[in-house]
Amino acid sequence: MSNYLIAIDQGTSSSRTVVFDARAQVVGSAQQEFTQEYPQPGWVEHDPEEIWDSVVAVTRSALKRSAISGNEVAAIGITNQRETTLVWDRDSGHCIHHAIVWQDRRTAAYCAELQAKGFEDSVIAKTGLRLDPYFSATKIAWILDHVDGAKDLALAGRLAFGTVDCFLLWRLTGGRVHATDATNAARTLLFNIHTQQWDEDLLRMFSIPQSILPEVRDCAANFGGTDKGLFGSEIPIAGIAGDQHAALIGQAGFENGMTKSTYGTGCFVMANTGKSPIRSKNKLLTTVAYRLDGETTYALEGSIFVAGSAIQWLRDRLKVIDDAASSEKIAEATGIVDHVHLVPAFAGLGAPYWDPNARAAIMGMSRDTGIDEIVTATLQAIAYQTVDLNNAMIDDGLSASLIRVDGGMVTNNWFLQFLADMLNVIVDRPVNVESTALGAAFVAGLQSGVFDTTDEIGKIWQLDRQFASTMGADRRVELYRGWRDAVARVRSAS
Ligand code: ADP
Repeated sequence: MSNYLIAIDQGTSSSRTVVFDARAQVVGSAQQEFTQEYPQPGWVEHDPEEIWDSVVAVTRSALKRSAISGNEVAAIGITNQRETTLVWDRDSGHCIHHAIVWQDRRTAAYCAELQAKGFEDSVIAKTGLRLDPYFSATKIAWILDHVDGAKDLALAGRLAFGTVDCFLLWRLTGGRVHATDATNAARTLLFNIHTQQWDEDLLRMFSIPQSILPEVRDCAANFGGTDKGLFGSEIPIAGIAGDQHAALIGQAGFENGMTKSTYGTGCFVMANTGKSPIRSKNKLLTTVAYRLDGETTYALEGSIFVAGSAIQWLRDRLKVIDDAASSEKIAEATGIVDHVHLVPAFAGLGAPYWDPNARAAIMGMSRDTGIDEIVTATLQAIAYQTVDLNNAMIDDGLSASLIRVDGGMVTNNWFLQFLADMLNVIVDRPVNVESTALGAAFVAGLQSGVFDTTDEIGKIWQLDRQFASTMGADRRVELYRGWRDAVARVRSAS
């Protein structure tokens, strides 16, 4: 019976494909990094052909390693780096410019101009996002403005826009399907999350013709089949979700109030807010958690720019640890550091501060502060930033009693214990910490009948270890006060 599921996880630094069986156990996987291009300071691009080639290569090799053929696969689910923008010619199938990556800041001045014209309020009201270069709309506008003849081609209906999922779908189906899902659409700055439609006012504001936009479908939907030549037989593509949304699904976060926090390079917290979108008072984003059976579930999201990358900084720049895992042993031996605070604002501060000009610092050092204290303070900083986000969510009316964590950092038990201590909520680590790929497989499995309901998925989710606070309230308050003082000192003057 064909009940294997393939998750294509197209991330910012690598493409990965994981083959799951019908009990969501990993059967095989393959991963490949690709080139990051930095044509100018603040610009980040990917070569679309390299993205495509890497996805085909890892999918073929994951199938091979799993010793299964394409006709044993029930369906493919796609999850992807969000907001990254591609525009291609519908006739040739070739992109007219490199992909502009979510991190790219080239449209900062354009965003400031639109803000000055007073547009931000309506953008937030319609999209739940902010007028920031991060999201796709100003990147599309930039491509149409800067590529020779692009505007005319777009007006003639010759061009197609897509986030990475949509581009991959187009290619996988041999150019037959131009569609995306509601979670990816919700990150473009062009999609009204309340009406679940592309918004004409927003399209006008950014001078983007409607003809270039894909059709928006549920996360679990019929997205067409792969070209037979690619994987030996036609495989249905049955699910799409942006990476953070897929992680929430992979964590079986289907109930109102369920929260997941992903600790990779950065950290993304997403809380399911049920059928009602909550507008944040604290600069968190409102987004579509997922859309199933035509019903939209909303989420509140906060991001921390630097999480695991601070550990990489200790390893690669300070050269004080040999590998990321040794941070755990050092922190265990050192114990909680009370007075040293490292604020990892290497790229400014994300939610709830949104201070692009803040810069990193280590504060509170004394003569006996050494490498061990700095390493431990770095782990602590990532937990304090999660508390910042959690407090913002509480202030917005959410109060999670439990969070589910995933991503590369969560193998670190010391970190998770300190996180539970500081949050004073239960922290659950699942057996499979690769929630993103799992989420893509889950949506594809729902559509293809491998799973019947989200309840069934909830039962598949397996706890590995639970962390609960053992810290007294006074100490928690004192430590957090120290962190807030340190943050106040690195904030930019504006
Ligand atoms: P991404 O998907 O963003 O590439 P991953 O989920 O693979 O990231 O996580 C990798 C990150 O986790 C790296 O930044 C690394 O420094 C960090 N990391 C991995 N293991 C540990 C550990 N045991 N303790 C602390 N950080 C870790």
